[in-house]
Amino acid sequence: MKIGYGWDSHEFKSGIPLKIGGIEIPHPKGLGGHSDGDVLLHAITDALLGAIAAPDIGTLFSPSDARWKGVDSAVFLAEALRRVNAAGYRIANLDSTLILAAPKIGPHTAALREHISGLMNVPPDCVGLKAKTPEGLRIDNAAIAHVVVLLEKIPQPPRLRKPKPKNSAR
Ligand SMILES: [Zn+2]
Repeated sequence: MKIGYGWDSHEFKSGIPLKIGGIEIPHPKGLGGHSDGDVLLHAITDALLGAIAAPDIGTLFSPSDARWKGVDSAVFLAEALRRVNAAGYRIANLDSTLILAAPKIGPHTAALREHISGLMNVPPDCVGLKAKTPEGLRIDNAAIAHVVVLLEKIPQPPRLRKPKPKNSAR
């Protein structure tokens, strides 16, 4: 098994849609960033990449590269998953914590877990999601995501042994 950890933060900005975990959540402000600013998908992507010791999200999808401007962060997640599978691993489960003052995430938790499980091709009960407010931290202008992911080796089918020839000379 392998474990991965990811962390990300983005600043709230007026006049852009708020996208968290691939879902648009009604709110007067969204998260700024070179891509769609999806703090949760970025942390999941980094956790997956970290678990297989691959380069991180900023290295693979450089903010200075025009190709990733405004792109759906599900693209980054898909590439991380491709690398995880190519390395011979699959997701056992993931757990995440979102830290933001507003909006309330509780009413969207079920939809978020369902959507993320679809993106990652695992059952919803393998996707943990908790939301906290940043009590006493004075960071009302940002959203933060922490993610841990556990990977397990994809079982290989048993190899059929070639029968040894009888009366072999050797
Ligand atoms: Zn990010």
